[in-house]
Amino acid sequence: MLLEYSFATELTGLTTPVKSIKLNHSNLQIINYKLFDELNLPKNWQEEHSLFVELFSEQGKLNRHSVAQKYGGHQFGHWNPQLGDGRGLLLAEVIDPQKQRWDIHLKGAGPTPYSRGADGRAVLRSTIREYLASEALHHLGIPSSRALALISSEEPVYREKQEPGAMLLRTCQSHIRFGHFEYFFHSGQTEKLQQLFDYCFKYHFIDCLAADNPYRALLEKITQDTAKLIAKWQAFGFNHGVMNTDNMSIHGITFDYGPYAFLDDFEPNFICNHSDPQGRYSFDSQPSIGLWNLNSLAQAFTQHLDVEQIKQVLGQYESALMNEYSQLMLKKCGLVVDKSPNSNNVEIVNGWLDILATEKKDFTISFRQLCEFDAKGENQTFRDQFIDRDKFDNWAKLYSTTLLKQTITQQDRQAAMKRSNPKVILRNYLAQQVIDQAEDGNFSLLNEFIKALEDPYADKKEYDKFSLPPPNWGKKLEISCSS
Ligand code: AMP
Ligand code: MG
Repeated sequence: MLLEYSFATELTGLTTPVKSIKLNHSNLQIINYKLFDELNLPKNWQEEHSLFVELFSEQGKLNRHSVAQKYGGHQFGHWNPQLGDGRGLLLAEVIDPQKQRWDIHLKGAGPTPYSRGADGRAVLRSTIREYLASEALHHLGIPSSRALALISSEEPVYREKQEPGAMLLRTCQSHIRFGHFEYFFHSGQTEKLQQLFDYCFKYHFIDCLAADNPYRALLEKITQDTAKLIAKWQAFGFNHGVMNTDNMSIHGITFDYGPYAFLDDFEPNFICNHSDPQGRYSFDSQPSIGLWNLNSLAQAFTQHLDVEQIKQVLGQYESALMNEYSQLMLKKCGLVVDKSPNSNNVEIVNGWLDILATEKKDFTISFRQLCEFDAKGENQTFRDQFIDRDKFDNWAKLYSTTLLKQTITQQDRQAAMKRSNPKVILRNYLAQQVIDQAEDGNFSLLNEFIKALEDPYADKKEYDKFSLPPPNWGKKLEISCSS
């Protein structure tokens, strides 16, 4: 295994060395064995004692160069220069067998100079939520930071009430956010901004250096990756909830989970974040907010790109997002790409989404049921679920005719659709049930749920209990920002 500390050692002016502080009575509660192996981390780190030595003792390799990163961010549209790792530390970078670099980061590691008076801790509830979400999104095929391990503890942390503290060991290509670039730009620290650019080219975007203008290539890459990411969120009904620019990764991955939700009923303007009454980050605002955030990031490129160049690059965002989204939606509906002018594909996808929205149908369950649609049959049971039968019949007629014209067999289409429409998703009410048990010291349901989320498309009986719609108490659970 190869560990490096390039961020800490090469960007000293952009970070502050801080040591993590262990929580009282900590337990290595969950380990992501597969991910440990993929990164080729030492086997003995999967054992509590050895991992804690690495993380918390003087001789620990994950303790040697831990740093808090400085960044800023546009929060709900307002610039805030006061941000940074307030409760997370970058520990090291591991180089995997494919020579890919992965940051190792500990969230909830104690106060840092950027904690702004807060405790630097994370509660068990939010740590479980982040663990679940990272793994759920990854296994659906949506880029995300990953969870390596969850450390529970008996140390109380005070929020609205006393809660158990916990830590999350997480990994992703890097923890560089839009807000890193914005901070060094807006504070006029041009040398540090340049160091950050150089570091990104050297370690993460080496291909861009071959372009005529590497800065343009870099902005293009981030724009494309962000557009594709948000297209995926839209196709799977994921609402991030806090798309502040400090929570936007330059790698186009989902990052910094807070009050997120997967949609239950399809309400396009759904707001998962209780602290966002205006709905700035509602489900259907995500595509436009992605572009707003890229505009903020692009400011930091103005020493290298003129306004016209920036406009050209950001002008690619909408089509990149729509391209990805259309492909995903066609797959979800079992439709093959048809570029002919008389294709009905767009009408079918939009018609289906319109029925789901008007009738407030469960997004995931409806798509999974659509996999069983019989192009030659009556689909009686399916049809009976809809109130406006005429509307359904008209849509189903167009859908059937189109499906029958495709050369793929019905069986193959249905099987392919099941690989694009998950049976199990991370619903907030399920997360809540798991958390309630974990807070009572029982982590077995959490482990079971993680297993199901690692295999979301499978038709397994034992996952039935994780594929039910929410009971009344479990709809629209109120979840706020940091915890
Ligand atoms: P978040 O809402 O988790 O993205 O956090 C926004 C900012 O607040 C970041 O700079 C965090 O590091 C900081 N922050 C959030 N919670 C805490 C905490 N409990 N202690 C210190 N800083 C925190
Ligand atoms: Mg954050």
